[in-house]
Amino acid sequence: MDWPPIKKKPDSLAIPPNLQEYEAACASFSWEALRREFTGVSGGRGMNMAHAAVDRHAGGPLADHLALRWLSRDGDATDFTYRGLMAESNRFANVLRQLGIGRGETVAVFTGRIPALYFAALGTLKNCAVFCPLFASFGPEAVWQRLQRGDARVLVTTSRLYGQKVAGLRRRLPGLRHVLLVDGQGEQGEGVRSLPDLMASTSADFTLPSTDPLDPALLHFTSGTTGMPKGAIHVHEALLVHYITGRYVLDFHPGDVFWCTADPGWVTGISYGLLAPLLCGITSIIDAGEFDARRWFAILEEQRVSVWYTSPTAIRRLMRLDMEPRREYDLGQLRAVFSVGEALNPEAVLWGQNYLGLPVHDTWWQTETGGIMIANYPAMDISPGSMGRPLPGIEAAIVRRLENGTVEAVGEPDIRGELALRAGWPSMFRGYLHEEEQYRQCFAGGWYLTGDLASQGADGYFRFVGRAGDIIKTAGHMVSPFEVESTLMMHPAVAEAGVVGKPDALLGEVVKAFVSLKSGFAGNEQLRLELIAFARSRLGPAIAPRELAFADELPKNNAGKIMRRLLRAREMGLPEGDTSTMEAGVGEP
Ligand code: AMP
Repeated sequence: MDWPPIKKKPDSLAIPPNLQEYEAACASFSWEALRREFTGVSGGRGMNMAHAAVDRHAGGPLADHLALRWLSRDGDATDFTYRGLMAESNRFANVLRQLGIGRGETVAVFTGRIPALYFAALGTLKNCAVFCPLFASFGPEAVWQRLQRGDARVLVTTSRLYGQKVAGLRRRLPGLRHVLLVDGQGEQGEGVRSLPDLMASTSADFTLPSTDPLDPALLHFTSGTTGMPKGAIHVHEALLVHYITGRYVLDFHPGDVFWCTADPGWVTGISYGLLAPLLCGITSIIDAGEFDARRWFAILEEQRVSVWYTSPTAIRRLMRLDMEPRREYDLGQLRAVFSVGEALNPEAVLWGQNYLGLPVHDTWWQTETGGIMIANYPAMDISPGSMGRPLPGIEAAIVRRLENGTVEAVGEPDIRGELALRAGWPSMFRGYLHEEEQYRQCFAGGWYLTGDLASQGADGYFRFVGRAGDIIKTAGHMVSPFEVESTLMMHPAVAEAGVVGKPDALLGEVVKAFVSLKSGFAGNEQLRLELIAFARSRLGPAIAPRELAFADELPKNNAGKIMRRLLRAREMGLPEGDTSTMEAGVGEP
């Protein structure tokens, strides 16, 4: 069903949007011009993300403006001005320097949403080292994979997470030289140090090393269809996209209070929880608490949030509750609501309109794109169910892959194909760490192929269809089936595992595993629960399967590869499609 557009009247908005004339902005936009604006922004020392986000403001009229407000689980607020954030991040940069950590070396942070994570991120960037966030609910195996693949030299973490999930892995991480405990005190030994002690003994002044706009800055792990998580590398000039999407999409204005609910363990929580609002000189709210509808509405009200960026899963959770947020809370200062991470159903767009007084604006991007690429803009009509239109400066198209390895644009409206972006925007990932071939395969004919299927309407709006591969999106988190399968197969009872995403009204998809057992093991309830617990303890709850079923045989193709597509089709009661490449006699329904 097609939903009627939500009409916008930019002239009647209290604050005129930064982007008013979309076509004109697209026609006149140039990355080069924006690059020039930011060249030399770091005091003649190139283009450094953290300097542009913090120090630039700390040295000007915004020095005492609130940069970050951190809310503890109890709701207590701790404030950091731009000047304060500069001092803390300088200290962290000095700690790295003292430890001999320099340009291009990876600093991983595994802490959850606490201020030290943000100081470490900014300090790492200032020191021209590479910042790599890790989601705090990852289990030991998931953490090890990323620390090892990311060549982490330093890990910032808490005593609890270290003891529970990392200490036992140190032997398998020979390159990890320093562990800095945010709550550690005194001498700890074995390269484990107290971060507060180190911070207290360093200076709050730091001389920025000269930073090339193309120096690596961020390492974000994302899931692969066939392999283990891949580390996508982003460079300092990605800040140009964070900045311009802050202005054009999220429509930041001076004095705005912005809340991005994404966890900093994932790309959105860094590009938008930290960088974009600071680059635009506004206030960002960080909440240490977990999802709780009343807490969230209270934050929107009490913190006077004016721009809110959240996810479809969160909005669907809010929709399920019998609440009247507009009646119960004063949300009068809220100007715009945005969402990212998975398809935003039209009902969710309209729920925003009816229950918040504001429609939800869908935005599309991915770890590899580094920032928002397609969006519904505040000044433009919303087409519910559509991801919107490309950012000025971004060329997007629907393409078909050809046999000879090239691609062609489908060139007609409403035809499904793969979503592609003309390569070369500043926040484009510059590699998958140690996986050059995988990286190369993402490009053809000057296009970056996103792995998403979509279509484009005659009105220019893009619509999401689904993932081209097997990657699972659950509650906004990308899950690699391969990573889950490999972990399940570490259990002595498991012969083979096939992992798929099963559609779920709330979470988008849930992770479901099909497992065949080695002889001598019986697929009973006790073993089912044991396997789920086994995966949870190694991967953490965000990645581990929620559902698990036993199968005598898993369907495989001639090459012996498990056909996840078939498992998914069977699970959903759908036609199984072409099974001609299946192994003879195996996996009959
Ligand atoms: P990640 O790299 O974890 O940020 O995930 C990126 C993927 O999430 C995209 O390739 C899409 O499959 C999905 N995604 C992100 N935003 C949207 C959206 N607005 N609509 C549909 N899918 C989305």
